[in-house]
Amino acid sequence: MPLAVTHVLTTIILVDVYRHYIAKHKKLLTLHLVLIAGIAGLLPDIDILIGYFYNLIGKTVPELFLHGGITHTPFFALIFLIPGIILWKLKKQKIAAYFFVITFGILLHIFLDYLIGGGRYEGIMWFFPFSMTGYKIHLLTYFGLSNLPAALDAVILILWLWHEEAKHKIKDFI
Ligand SMILES: [Zn+2]
Repeated sequence: MPLAVTHVLTTIILVDVYRHYIAKHKKLLTLHLVLIAGIAGLLPDIDILIGYFYNLIGKTVPELFLHGGITHTPFFALIFLIPGIILWKLKKQKIAAYFFVITFGILLHIFLDYLIGGGRYEGIMWFFPFSMTGYKIHLLTYFGLSNLPAALDAVILILWLWHEEAKHKIKDFI
């Protein structure tokens, strides 16, 4: 499964690249929001904590809160997307932006788990609550590279540091 650094940094990198090279609302998409997005990129794995909590109080974990359950569905992302859209319509763009980056962080997490491998063995329930069927590509299992996540973490971290360095050097010339 993709590790924490992969989830957080992939989200931060994509949102930051969007912010720098694509976004027209740089004032709205602040650096602070990039950080929030990164944290949200880890949010679906809160089901691990929920599981610990149930174990701690000696109760069995409800099926939906098992790792890779409801927090790994687009349905979970809707909980943030809907208020975001409503706030945006109410011209509360600044608060809406928080909900949008959290939605993005969740969806990216789910997609990475789906593509690389993570969450439930059965895969992502893309159509929850209409269907509990899981879908997965799980490239790591496919290529027999279950040890790769640690390496992936390191590669992503180094690429990010390199990008930051390059970016700041470029700034020195402007
Ligand atoms: Zn996950």
